[in-house]
Amino acid sequence: MVSLLQSLRGGAYNQHQSSIRITALDLTRSKTLCAVRCKASYGTSSDEEKGDQKKLRILIAGGGIGGLVLGLAAKNRGYDVKVFERDLSAVRGEGRHRGPIQLSSSALGVLQAIDENVAKQIMEAGCVTGDRINGLADGISGEWFTKFDLLTPALRRGLPITQTICRMELQDILVNSVGFDILTNNSKVVDFIQDFDKVIVILEDGRRYKGDILVGADGIWSEVRTKLFGLQEAKYSGYTCYSGITNFVPPYIDTVGYRVFIGLKQCFVASDVGNGKMQWYAFYNQPPMNTDPTGGNGKKKRLVELFGQWCGEVIDLISKTPEDVILRRDIYDRDMIDDCWGIGRVTLLGDAAHPMQPNLGQGGCMAIEDCYQLVLELDKSVERGCDENVSALRSYEKKRRFRVSTVHAASRMASKMLASYQPYIELGSSPLRIKAPMVHVARAILQVCMPLFMTWIIADPSFINDS
Ligand SMILES: Cc1cc2nc3c(=O)[nH]c(=O)nc-3n(C[C@H](O)[C@H](O)[C@H](O)COP(=O)(O)OP(=O)(O)OC[C@H]3O[C@@H](n4cnc5c(N)ncnc54)[C@H](O)[C@@H]3O)c2cc1C
Repeated sequence: MVSLLQSLRGGAYNQHQSSIRITALDLTRSKTLCAVRCKASYGTSSDEEKGDQKKLRILIAGGGIGGLVLGLAAKNRGYDVKVFERDLSAVRGEGRHRGPIQLSSSALGVLQAIDENVAKQIMEAGCVTGDRINGLADGISGEWFTKFDLLTPALRRGLPITQTICRMELQDILVNSVGFDILTNNSKVVDFIQDFDKVIVILEDGRRYKGDILVGADGIWSEVRTKLFGLQEAKYSGYTCYSGITNFVPPYIDTVGYRVFIGLKQCFVASDVGNGKMQWYAFYNQPPMNTDPTGGNGKKKRLVELFGQWCGEVIDLISKTPEDVILRRDIYDRDMIDDCWGIGRVTLLGDAAHPMQPNLGQGGCMAIEDCYQLVLELDKSVERGCDENVSALRSYEKKRRFRVSTVHAASRMASKMLASYQPYIELGSSPLRIKAPMVHVARAILQVCMPLFMTWIIADPSFINDS
């Protein structure tokens, strides 16, 4: 296995990467549909109408991962699309710290289906981790708990291999591909009005835009969601997350992609992110809005308190990270919306619809998959006629529900398991510890279930439903 993994890195890997394609999706559909137009069903406006034919007009609130990918997919299919972003520099402002994001095979496959050239740029800018050993390890001993094979399922399905990419680079590639004729910055969506044949978006500065549908891709604190379903409190996950990035090449870099070190009520995720850098996330179970020791190196001091007894791999990463690139945030998610994610001509996508805890690294991937399912449903509705737009939105929500709910539930379950993980039995004040018997049981279960579940997440053939 390892020799296969190693041989796929370097030139052999690149050759492979550029030759594999998503097979589940019909790429020709996008080309033919660029020409598809539907009859105008309401009043004309000069720049929107070509004779009596009108393009489907898609309004998107939020230019994050989901909003930009949807904007790109809609643009490539010839739809009339506008993306309204509150503040594009938010990723950049935090970007030094927010660091890379993992994109799994399914999400990369979807990106290829949406735009081969953009997918290529993303894959060239990223760092492949799925061709090495990835998995869970014990935080104190460093001993592997279970390993996931992210490579074989991807190869079997003809999908790209899981990789990480810097969020700012991902944003740059997507923004440039979408273009500023479609994306408008400094445009906060504050409200919308819909009736039987249109929806109007209202921006903070009073500007109004008319469209056929509105997609709320405005993240976990979505205004569109609040307008649709009323104000609901986000749920605190129980965890604060510290993240950091460091110019440190550990000795295991050629064999390990990412490793999640686990301990009681805390875990530490370390990932190679390419260009001689390692990214890490440290999760710790504590009430929200806790504070770190004041003075210089406060976050590092706190991290040393929390992880100082852990294995060398964890301690090295913390100690080699400068204080000013360590970011701390409390992690929230929301319950899944029981029924539809939208009403009438309005729907939600990505974190606006289903914010999840980041422990499986899937929130962004699910947003990307949402985009493709949504454009597939819109394509079908355009083929059938404009009045089908509303049912296309409901169909998209229905088809995404099972997969997204499963990943959402698994993310919550993972953090609950962490809260009860008790690897050792302490023997009073003695420095000796013995392994808790349940650890062996848990490990056996995880060794069977985790690889199956990871295969389903990253490369299940039904992750997009084209029926
Ligand atoms: C610590 C951490 C690590 C993570 N790691 C991963 C990972 O490895 N892989 C992965 O797939 N996911 C990961 N995620 C999850 C991922 O970041 C999110 O799921 C993803 O960003 C969701 O994309 P989105 O487009 O739905 O929302 P966002 O990326 O949050 O984008 C929403 C956009 O809408 C804009 N906006 C908000 N309100 C308005 C408004 N009223 N009007 C206009 N614009 C508005 C915002 O400025 C923002 O640009 C991680 C999350 C965290 C917290």
